[in-house]
Amino acid sequence: MTTTVAPGTGIECDVAVVGGGLSGTLAAIMLGRAGYRVALVDRNAVFPPEFRVEKIGGDLVSRIERIGLLDAVSANAARFDEIVNARRGRVLDRTRTPHFGFLYENLVAAMRASLPETVTLIVGRVNDLKTSSDRQQVFVHEQGMVEARLVVLATGMGDLLRRTLGMERRVIHERQSLTFGFDIRPADGSFKCSALTYYGERVSDGIDYLSLFPTVTGMRANLFTFRDHRDPWVKAFRESPTETLAATLPGLRKVLGDFQVVGRVQNWIMDLAVAENCRQDGVVLIGDAYQTSCPAAGTGFSRLLTDVERLCHVHVPQWLATPGMTADKIGCYYDDPAKQAADASALAQAKYRRSLTVDTGLAWRVRRLLLVWRRRLVDRLGRLSPGTVARLRTLSGRPA
Ligand SMILES: Cc1cc2nc3c(=O)[nH]c(=O)nc-3n(C[C@H](O)[C@H](O)[C@H](O)COP(=O)(O)OP(=O)(O)OC[C@H]3O[C@@H](n4cnc5c(N)ncnc54)[C@H](O)[C@@H]3O)c2cc1C
Repeated sequence: MTTTVAPGTGIECDVAVVGGGLSGTLAAIMLGRAGYRVALVDRNAVFPPEFRVEKIGGDLVSRIERIGLLDAVSANAARFDEIVNARRGRVLDRTRTPHFGFLYENLVAAMRASLPETVTLIVGRVNDLKTSSDRQQVFVHEQGMVEARLVVLATGMGDLLRRTLGMERRVIHERQSLTFGFDIRPADGSFKCSALTYYGERVSDGIDYLSLFPTVTGMRANLFTFRDHRDPWVKAFRESPTETLAATLPGLRKVLGDFQVVGRVQNWIMDLAVAENCRQDGVVLIGDAYQTSCPAAGTGFSRLLTDVERLCHVHVPQWLATPGMTADKIGCYYDDPAKQAADASALAQAKYRRSLTVDTGLAWRVRRLLLVWRRRLVDRLGRLSPGTVARLRTLSGRPA
């Protein structure tokens, strides 16, 4: 149910979720399914076309299936089961697992369409929060108030409400990465593969990889770089994306076919940051509101899913079963080992992807070479006939 709160009036519920992007909507679904009365407040009735995660695969697909939301995700997404991985005009190997490509606004819309009856979606901008160890008040601009036992803050990278609560944002790495999103079409006929991950060709280019994948509207591209946003290359790429991409990745046409970048090139400069002073009465942070992720590492979705699962399946039921909502209770969520491991792993992977792309130290140069060789070798071994594999095993002294 979508509604507004009339000025001077209020709505009462168990949990008020502020922010109806991916993390807030998932939290509202899980809490609503558990039978809690939830108010989900977002400033937009429909999530706008903003650039965020656009592809999922691997373990994340199984996790989404386990929470019963894969049908919703796949309804407005394109499924693909093979990704060609290539570099310098040569195929390295192929990834064969189910993947889905989508536009973020469609993903959020599909999630919102899955909200159970117990969730009320309120469209409006929250401009103030009053929190305490018992009841919380959420004030919606030019509307009324939502009263709840707990506020879940899922406002993404926006700082305003966190600052209202005296929470800091500790920047771990300013301008850690620069990511581009755009549509790409074959210049003649069709592409040579339905999905492609193409790695940067030279360290000096600062390109980690270009990910090409289908969505329901055609082929989409995410270009993950660790370049400075003021670099002249960035300007050149925005002005002439097709030519700049072809010049920077000269082997791309060989594995993909001739291409043309079409429409608007979106870009995003990511600061890696984590919220501090968030162990407070009555309010808890999830998703990007708690910690941002490096797009190239592809950990944002899985990290926020861990936040939501641990919060909604483990902690909220315990908190609501006893009176009060003190900072001590809330602290159990931030101390949760599964959450801490997901947060730490996301930061470690962000650091790793950046070093693997731009670090010129000997250790990283060797690591890059070994990675490419290992992938080629594993791919070739995988293509050998069972008889050859058995003979190789015998030669190496391993049982066939
Ligand atoms: C360019 C880019 C590429 C990415 N690529 C990947 C990837 O490939 N893989 C991956 O796993 N992750 C990726 N990520 C990360 C992932 O997209 C995010 O972690 C995820 O979208 C965060 O969701 P969220 O719900 O926390 O925030 P958001 O989706 O930003 O939602 C925040 C919501 O809060 C609402 N809001 C804010 N303030 C208020 C207010 N005062 N009142 C009411 N509503 C409010 C907003 O309207 C919005 O709906 C990428 C991120 C970016 C930026």
